[in-house]
This record gives sequence, C-alpha cells and structure tokens, in this order.
Amino acid sequence: MSEAMAQQVGQRPVANADPLAERLKEVVGGRTATTLERKLDLRTVGDLLRHYPRRYATRGELTDLASLALDDYVTVLAEVESVRTRPLKGRRGSVTDVVVTDGSADLSLTFFNQPWRDRELYPGRLGLFSGRVTVFNKRRQLAQPELELLKEDQDAAAEAERYANELIPFYPAAKELSSRKIQSCVQVALDRLDDLPDPLPRPVRERHGLIGLLEAFEKIHRPGRRDEYRLARKRLKWDEALPLQVVLAQRRRDALALPAVPRPVRRGGLLDRFDARLPFRLTSGQRAVCDQIERDLAAAHPMQRLLQGEVGSGKTVVALRAMLTVVDAGGQAVLLAPTEVLAQQHHRSILDLLGPLARAGQLDGDPEGTRVALLTGSQGAKERRANLLDAAGGAAGIVIGTHAVIEDTVQFADLGLVVVDEQHRFGVEQRDALRAKSAKPPHLLVMTATPIPRTVAMTAFGDLETSVLAELPGGRSPISTFVVPAADKPHYLARTWDRIREEVAAGHQAYVVCPRIGDGEPTGSDEAEGEETGGAPDGAAPDGAAPDGAAPDGAARAGGDPADEPERQAQLSLDDLAKAAPAPRPALSVVDTARRLTERQLAGLRIGVLHGRLAPEEKDAVMTAFAAGGIDVLVATTVIEVGVNVPNATVMVVLDADRFGVSQLHQLRGRVGRGTAPGLCLLVTQAPEETPARQRLGAVAATLDGFELSRIDLEQRREGDVLGASQSGRRSSLKLLRVLDDEELLRAAREAASELVESDPLLTGEPALAAAVAALVSSDQAGFLDKS
Ligand code: ADP
Ligand code: MG
Repeated sequence: MSEAMAQQVGQRPVANADPLAERLKEVVGGRTATTLERKLDLRTVGDLLRHYPRRYATRGELTDLASLALDDYVTVLAEVESVRTRPLKGRRGSVTDVVVTDGSADLSLTFFNQPWRDRELYPGRLGLFSGRVTVFNKRRQLAQPELELLKEDQDAAAEAERYANELIPFYPAAKELSSRKIQSCVQVALDRLDDLPDPLPRPVRERHGLIGLLEAFEKIHRPGRRDEYRLARKRLKWDEALPLQVVLAQRRRDALALPAVPRPVRRGGLLDRFDARLPFRLTSGQRAVCDQIERDLAAAHPMQRLLQGEVGSGKTVVALRAMLTVVDAGGQAVLLAPTEVLAQQHHRSILDLLGPLARAGQLDGDPEGTRVALLTGSQGAKERRANLLDAAGGAAGIVIGTHAVIEDTVQFADLGLVVVDEQHRFGVEQRDALRAKSAKPPHLLVMTATPIPRTVAMTAFGDLETSVLAELPGGRSPISTFVVPAADKPHYLARTWDRIREEVAAGHQAYVVCPRIGDGEPTGSDEAEGEETGGAPDGAAPDGAAPDGAAPDGAARAGGDPADEPERQAQLSLDDLAKAAPAPRPALSVVDTARRLTERQLAGLRIGVLHGRLAPEEKDAVMTAFAAGGIDVLVATTVIEVGVNVPNATVMVVLDADRFGVSQLHQLRGRVGRGTAPGLCLLVTQAPEETPARQRLGAVAATLDGFELSRIDLEQRREGDVLGASQSGRRSSLKLLRVLDDEELLRAAREAASELVESDPLLTGEPALAAAVAALVSSDQAGFLDKS
C-alpha cells in the first residue's frame, strides 16, 4: 500500500465507527472475552463473527422414547414426570435427576450443578430434549441434554419438528471454550448489530449476486436452511478474495508507476552475435517469450515477469538473451541462483553458450564481448576481489551468484536486470536490497520450473505477469516412471540396481537420491541442505513451504539409528510395517547408501556423493566430474533437485520416495531424459499399497504433467500453507476461500479489483473496502504477499 493511502485510512474515523471493531469484553463480558482471546485469538466482534462454523448439524431425529438406540444423537418430545436435586456424594456440587416420559417409555435426564433446573422442569411440563443416549445404572439417559421448554399454547408437534431440524452450528472450539459457548457469544454479538458498513462495493455485489455483510453473518451463524449458509459462504469468500486482489492490483499499479531505464534491443550487438552462434533454433514458445521480454525491457517501468517452464524447457537461453539485451543497452544483469551448486552450473553453461563473447579483454575474446563474473561464498579473496571489481566497474555485463552473496557485497555500475532462478521466495525485501544498488529499479525476471496452478499464480504471485514455456525443445526424450514397492516385492529392488548397471554398461549415468545426508550430524539439521541462502533449494513448493521437502508427514525425522540395509528392509513384512507405522525407521541416508552400494550392489562402478554439507569446492568437483562422465552413479540429496543438467544421465532412483513431496519427485525426475536416450525414474518405497503415500507415488508415475502434479501437491496442504501463512505460525486470513477450488471466484475478484483500482486507486469511494485492505496490509497475515 502506498503511504498516501495509509495516511488516508488512518485519518478516517471508519475503524472506530465500525461495530465490528468493538472489543469483545464490551459485548460478552470480561471473563469470556479473555478466554476467547486467549484460546482463539478473537478480540473484536468482527473476529468473532468471522470465526465461522466448521459444520452444521440438526439435533437429530425426533424419536419415540421406546425406540432410543444407545449412542444416537436424538431429540425427544416428552413430559416431565419427576425431578430431584441431590448433593454429589463426597464432592462439592449437585446433580439433578429428571425423569421424562412420552407415554410409551421413560428416560432419565441428568444435570450437574444446575440446581435451578428443578424450578423450570416441574412435573407436567412439556419440552424438547436432545443429546446422546447413554446408559447409567441400567437406565437409558441423556446427560446434560440441550432443552427447549414449550409454552402452554404452543403447537407441540410443529414446534418439535422445527426444533429437531434446526441447524446447529459447530464452531472450531478449544478447551474451556465449547462450540456451544461460542455459539451463544455469537448470538449476543449478532443481536446487537443492525447495520454494517459493507467492504464489498454495491456494484460488485450486484454483478455477482452476493448478499450483504450483515445478512451473510446472520445466515452463516443462524441459517434457517442449508442453502442459506451456502449463500453466506459465497459472499464471505469474497471478503477474503477482494482485499487480497486489491493489494495485488495496487502493487501492479505501483510497479507501473515506478521509473526504470528502458533497455531496448540494439541491433548488431552481443545479442545478435549470440543468436548467430546458437547451435539450435529457438522454439516458437521461446521466441514468443523472448519477444514479450524485449517489449518489457524497452518500457520505462520495471518488468515484473514470472517465467514458468518445465525443467529443460529452455528458460536459461531465454534469460540469457534478456541479459544480453540489457548489456547491449549499456546495463548489467545479475543472475541469482538458490544454491552455490546451481550458481556454478549456470556460470559454466553460460560461459559455454557465450564462448568468446564472454571473454572480453582476453586474447581469444570477442572485442564486442563482455565478462561473466561468478560470486560465491567459497571463493578465495583474490578471485572474489577481481569479480567484485568487474561488477562495480561494469566490465562484467553479467554477474552470477547466490542471493546472499549478491545482496550483501556487490556493487554494480548500472544494474538493469535481475534474473531469479528457482526461487519462489524472492520477495519485496530482496527486491529492495537490489534496488538500493541501482539508481532506478531494475527489471525483474523470476524463473521457476515448478508449475504453479493458475489460481496460486493469481494470489501468491499476483503482482507478477506470467509467461509459460509449454513445449520442450526437440531432443528431449520420454521418461518412464515406475513405483518400486520394495516391501511387497523385494526382487524389484534388486532389479533396480541391475537397471543401473545396464545403463552404465551402455555408457550412461545414474542418480540415486536419498532423503537424508546421514553423516553423523544430528537428524534435525541433517536434512537441511541450505547454503548461503540459509534456506533449502526446494524448487518443489511454490510457497517455499517444507524447506527440505522430505517427509511431508514428518516420518523421516524420528530416531537416530543407522538405517537398515535396503535389502533387509525389503524383507520386512507388511505387518511389520503396519505395526511400526508411522515412523518405522529413519530415512535412508546418502552416506550409508553410497557405502552399501559401493561395497555390494554396485561394486565396481564409480560412485560419487553430493549433499549440502560438503565443502563448496568438493561439491563443485563432484558435479564437474559427474558432468564430465567421471562418475557413474551420483548418490545425492535433493541438492540436485533443481537445474542440474547432465544429459547423459538416464536413470533416477529415489529411495524412500514416499518421504518426498509430489512436486519434488517431479523435479527430481526431470534430471533424466535430458539427452537423446530415454529416461527412467524408479520410485522406491516401503509404503504399503493403498496408503496415501503410495497413491501419491502412483500419481507421479501416472503423469508427466507438472501442473497436474502441483495441483495434487497443493491439495494435500492446508490453504494457509499455500500462501505461507502457516510458516509464520500465524492465523491465515483465508478461512473459507480455497485457493485451488475457487478459481472462478478468484478470477472474478481479480478482475473486480483491477477495475476498482483503475478507477479509484486509493478507494476513496469505498471506505469500508479501503479499511479491509489496510487491515490486511498492516496485519502480519499479508506476510505471504511478500514471498512472491
Ligand atoms: P531449463 O533452464 O528450463 O531447465 P535449459 O535452458 O537449461 O532449461 O535447457 C535445457 C537444455 O536444452 C540445455 O542444454 C539447452 O541448451 C537446450 N536447449 C534450450 N533451448 C533449446 C532449443 N530451442 N533447441 C534445442 N535445445 C535447446
Ligand atoms: Mg535451468
């Protein structure tokens, strides 16, 4: 939000006049208000009214006393026969025993510590009683039943019918705070309201058939019929979607208002020379995206573009062409990678693609060329200084490194473009850090191989324009994927190792991925693959959740025992596994697996090890050796998940595959099939058939469609996770809205928000919406917005 707007909202008395802003202690009393705040973090009337029922139930069939079944929830229409209140034995308190009858049979009602009950429940009184049927002292009873007493003149039968079918809301409750207690607080709050400012502008409500806010609260908390709370939910979802989309629309608008140096294409420069030496033709998809980017770069406001494309779809070439365009225009470009391994790999492949164009100032360099500076945490001081100088002086047109390194230390002569690879958490803060390094905001291109469903792109990434590289350049080979059920079919596991031997014999290479490093460090940090970024290279999760991606169910983290040998586990019976669930053993580790494979199943092959805790120069040496064919089998963690490109590798074996997320497996699979030979991906698991874990693996094996898989992945997380809210441990602002299911609604809200912001940027005509937007922005709940 712009400052002007913050001030404006601050000046308005709206927040104070708003009945929803009233403190709960003024409404339900101090004690209850304290409990509501402590247990459920509800402070205002608005908080309470937006604490929606999780579900609704009726009181249960109206039942004859003669046909009551144990454990049923029932409602009975009956007459009080007798009442007796007595003290509890040996304890403080009292119990009131009531016997009711409907003429056919009797039933006991028991109330604890409600001695006043005997005044209203006098013999002959007709009432409706509901609760669960239990048995005490061989008599059927309802303990602490809900009740409604009928007046003399009421039509008992009709009243009974209404009472039994009334929808009772069930609220997310807490200890000391029952759903019923919450319900009665909500009743009190609702009864006080007679008018509410509506954050949804009237034209929006009219166009989309949405009921007003007060009516919506009434219908979600006290629905008369089921279709009423459905109407209410639809409307209240808009309350979540619209402010969010307004924030994003304002951000897009602010970005358009920012000045940037236009970097139009200059003919006859580096870009043309590069195109001339490119050994292949751009696909039409690449062509289209490159054209779009060229238009963006030529504009006088910063490009904000997200480029999605499957692994191997050729994003790097597109990014490099953008960088060269900027260099031709006199600026510099920086490429940020999430890990040092990837920064080094980018550096190598960009040097390759550029050839003499990257060797300005060297004997064999192109006189029109530039220099490419690599900056990593592990560089020697001298090399580093030279690279920093190249960046600061402008001799390096292209600078490559990890985020942390670049944000900290580098100065640029004229930074024109920032390219971010495989990093979803490149948020506003990082952008600001880089902005501080240039006079005007640089253009921004974010690349991701993780397909992001449209709806998520519209929310978490809503302030970026999106491009997709849908087609793969020729030469990509098919990948087949199989689940290897090591528990029920041990010989399949043996076959897995044979397949690796066969591929190696045919001149190819293989990856074996394990969930854990296992070098003796405590398990907790064992999986952390983070490098300078302090995070993990988790290309799997659009929201950056589950940093190590492993063990979505947390199963991998338990225990410290050395992992069993793969083939021994293979002999565990299904029963053993069932008994041992959910955490039968620690996940297989890179170190142990590499040792066992070296000694046994793959003895004689050249086996290398790669994980996040190797020294950077070791990592680089291993990757270089693997890329050069000096290593047959690379046993690794997910450190190889993103971007690693060794076309000669044809087999990907993932051990304990059930401990990885769906998108992550898809990423790992993308490491093979990058050359001319077909790829093979084997997902080895101990998870028994029919378990959700096995179904997940089945889904990965069944499709190569990354968008479909990321949908499946996201469906398994809570919505809050999608937007990163749960990472901060805070309440998500999304309660009803389902980012994946409510695509239509999100699209409509986005459109409405764009129109509103277009015609009235500060929403002066819609103070209630402006207040909702301000509340969203100022709350920590907007944190996820900065994770794009
Ligand atoms: P991504 O970064 O999207 O995973 P890359 O840019 O690394 O993909 O491309 C994967 C491989 O395909 C690289 O070896 C690259 O040189 C090659 N490549 C890219 N574009 C084309 C194309 N149009 N035709 C043939 N090969 C291509
Ligand atoms: Mg790449």
